[in-house]
Amino acid sequence: MKRVAIFGSTGSIGTTTLRIIKENPEVFSAVTLVAGKNVELLIEQIEEFHPRHVYIKDERNAKMIKRIFPKLDIYTEKVGLEMISKLEDVDIAVSALVGIAGLEPTWNMLKHSKEVALANKEVLVTGGQLVMERAKRYGTKLKTVDSEHSAIMQCLRGEESNKIAKILLTASGGPFFDKEITDDITPMQALNHPNWKMGPKVTIDSATMMNKGFEVIEAHHLFGLAEDQIEVIVHRQSLVHSMVQFVDGTIMANIGPTDMQIPIAYALNYPERLGNKIEPLDLFKIGSLKFEEPDLDKFKCLKLAYKAIHMGHSAQVVLNAADEIAVQAFLDGAIRFTEIPEMIDWALSNHVVTKLGTVQEILELDRTVKNECLNRI
Ligand code: NDP
Repeated sequence: MKRVAIFGSTGSIGTTTLRIIKENPEVFSAVTLVAGKNVELLIEQIEEFHPRHVYIKDERNAKMIKRIFPKLDIYTEKVGLEMISKLEDVDIAVSALVGIAGLEPTWNMLKHSKEVALANKEVLVTGGQLVMERAKRYGTKLKTVDSEHSAIMQCLRGEESNKIAKILLTASGGPFFDKEITDDITPMQALNHPNWKMGPKVTIDSATMMNKGFEVIEAHHLFGLAEDQIEVIVHRQSLVHSMVQFVDGTIMANIGPTDMQIPIAYALNYPERLGNKIEPLDLFKIGSLKFEEPDLDKFKCLKLAYKAIHMGHSAQVVLNAADEIAVQAFLDGAIRFTEIPEMIDWALSNHVVTKLGTVQEILELDRTVKNECLNRI
């Protein structure tokens, strides 16, 4: 029985992970649940999955949970998040908090858990090589949950000695690929993703294609490839989850249903595949697959992500921090959709690249950039 810790159990990735655990009770048990604000859902999850350890951000909510479940091991506030991410009675920790809030806990998991299933893109975008080196140092298996990187990981199995020419990272293009991007786009329109049901931050990032930019940075760190070896290719159907092109011209593609349950289960149970209730693809019904080129002048965030790789690690931290502030400001109605890339471009243009050697230095730069962006708003 594999003991699973879920950081972000009340979110989109977290609830899908719990569905997999529920469907495979002989394979997995949920030992740790970590949530932010959604105390009602967390209580339902405790009743259903009987975890040993639970974290909720706010102390008042933690006290309420303690009254209902007096024997449960409960953590809260910043210090509690640090403690729960250092527990060792875990076989695999799913890192699915949103934003840079996931960096420190994941940093701890990489030392204390045997395996880490990484959904949170910001961990690699901001932690880069430091995160990869830490996993190596402690011999922790780092498995990606992102569907595109999972696809690449699957295409590379058994190909370790073969040279990659490039990775073809597929993108759905989001809700505005075929539409004009105008100043009056509302949060409701931007939250309406055509293919995937996800949390609000990643959905807005998909609409600006910053999400794909983050994935380019993730692929750069995960697979050790230069930015010109990672090509984004728009595939509106979201059936080809990504591809690898080898030096002889052969392209390996990973094709499957559009359901996050598949890459999450693959990471949890690697290298064995688990059965599921998802309807398999009917290729006769699909008929054909279509690929298009992204317009980098229209999707400026994607272009800025390549620029950040080119600039260096600290620029990637700046890119992420400015995007977090800009997306939240857009959701709050404080800035327009078109001002999201403007703010990120402004932050990158003001940045002088510096060497970041510790998580504390990364978090310090993150705070500084966020304050600068908030002042600008
Ligand atoms: P959601 O917004 O749906 O969920 C985020 C989770 O993190 C929630 O459980 C939330 O708790 C919790 N959380 C947020 N901040 C804190 C905090 N400070 N302390 C404790 N818990 C916190 O996001 P998603 O599940 O969509 O995405 C999670 C990560 O995975 C993101 O980095 C995203 O980019 C990545 N990802 C997501 C995909 C998807 O399909 N959703 C696909 C690939 C990657 P609460 O809700 O209780 O406040």
